[in-house]
Amino acid sequence: MKSKDRQLGMNADISRRDFLSGVSIAIGASLLPPSSVAADIGKQDLAGYYPPRLSGMRGSHPGSFEVAHTARDGATWEGEDTGEEYDLVVVGGGISGLSAAYFYRQAMGNTARILVLDNHDDFGGHAKRNEFEIDGRLIIGYGGTMSLESPGGYPEIAKKLIRELGIDTERFYTAFDQELYASLGLTSGTFFDKETFGSDHLAIGDIVAADVLKHLPLSEQGKADLVRLLADERHFLDDMPPAERFDYLVRTDYRTYLKERGGFGEELLKVMESRSRSVWAVGIDAVPAHTAWRDAYPGFADLDLPVSSYEEKVDEPWIFHFPDGNASVARLLVRTMIPSVAPGEDMEDIVTARFNYQRLDDPKSAVRIRLNSTAVRVQHLDDDLKKPLRVTYVRDGEARSLTAGKVVMACYHAIIPHLCPEMPATQRAMLSRSVRAPLVYTNVLIRNWTSFVKLGLHSVTCPGSYHHGVVLDYPVSLGD
Ligand SMILES: Cc1cc2nc3c(=O)[nH]c(=O)nc-3n(C[C@H](O)[C@H](O)[C@H](O)COP(=O)(O)OP(=O)(O)OC[C@H]3O[C@@H](n4cnc5c(N)ncnc54)[C@H](O)[C@@H]3O)c2cc1C
Repeated sequence: MKSKDRQLGMNADISRRDFLSGVSIAIGASLLPPSSVAADIGKQDLAGYYPPRLSGMRGSHPGSFEVAHTARDGATWEGEDTGEEYDLVVVGGGISGLSAAYFYRQAMGNTARILVLDNHDDFGGHAKRNEFEIDGRLIIGYGGTMSLESPGGYPEIAKKLIRELGIDTERFYTAFDQELYASLGLTSGTFFDKETFGSDHLAIGDIVAADVLKHLPLSEQGKADLVRLLADERHFLDDMPPAERFDYLVRTDYRTYLKERGGFGEELLKVMESRSRSVWAVGIDAVPAHTAWRDAYPGFADLDLPVSSYEEKVDEPWIFHFPDGNASVARLLVRTMIPSVAPGEDMEDIVTARFNYQRLDDPKSAVRIRLNSTAVRVQHLDDDLKKPLRVTYVRDGEARSLTAGKVVMACYHAIIPHLCPEMPATQRAMLSRSVRAPLVYTNVLIRNWTSFVKLGLHSVTCPGSYHHGVVLDYPVSLGD
């Protein structure tokens, strides 16, 4: 292994995820010592447990997915009954699950007993907070979902929720410095890598501007294609009756649309290939052209298609960003339901509020959040669907079960058919069609960012590279 590989971390151990693939096992709680159920203490209940400070793989981290994989592969568990009873159990502690708990509590009263189970070591699901300390200074970053997207267009129930959580979206117009990077003369750029384009080249600014374009490592045809797509923008469906366009775009991927309808060559397609990856985790060959049109990718100018009210976008800037992204929304939900978990009361103090994870699963609290706990079975106690359910989960290798009046499945769709044997076949089949794909966001803390200023860049698109984009963090200042 070369030192460059090691610098990239390629010497790190990657655990074999599918270690039990194809093996059907039955793990019984009878194997456990009886005391293990009575003293149900998890890692989160111990002093010093503070997952935002962890680094490395923070999404589906080792320890979070293995149990679900065995459930997928047919394992079953007979969890020992803990005797716990809840009005509601929510499977999944992301924003959906936390909101479900919040709405249920609002409807049923503050004494409703609610348990949220999540397989990760932190709550928030895709809305994850990262903390770093350097030279005694706390740096906060986001590990996933980054901003409230067009909150002006939220349905009323979501607007009401964020109002109740104390989020005033107007505040971001002053908190987010929309002028900072422009005032420093910074713009965006494109990095062409040698492996894909023949030579390493960093293009600063608009790649179709004449003085930038002429230096690109592309053939004359490739440059002409770039200008035709980005500068002389038009759509390529002139010869198709308007009534057929919608169906065509839904059935055709964006790459095929550019190649077959636009007549673009391979070089142009390589420049565009990673355009969709940061949101959809797949290349343009797997994104419907209709999605590309809706998300304002180039090649559709003046194309008029019907839009559903869901797809109508409110014209708002991309500024609704807490320093930890939408982890602040998750943290506000948790602090509202379990006030003893952290001090504070508004959208400013949530930013630096230190959460006490030992309070998340406090028996004295009506709402509890249990981490590192993968639900493996959710089933009614008998054929009467009005009767309570038994929920079995695995934590630290041990299976436990409890009783729930109601259950909300706010977890990954594809795992649900493996957890809920009562689910109708059609619904199982549809849920099983959901596929998750890995996305890697890497937070890098640099001591000195003047290199970006010297280059005149705040973000770079890197179509052929492993990381296909590099961006400076959002300039937002809230609370401390
Ligand atoms: C790359 C990317 C960027 C995004 N950016 C934005 C953005 O900027 N703004 C925005 O509004 N939205 C954004 N989104 C969408 C946003 O992430 C989601 O809408 C939201 O965070 C999803 O919340 P959720 O609770 O539905 O799911 P999740 O956050 O995925 O939470 C589900 C939870 O259930 C857990 N779970 C799964 N199975 C089990 C089980 N068997 N037992 C226990 N727990 C289980 C999961 O591990 C997870 O913690 C983005 C999405 C992606 C992929």
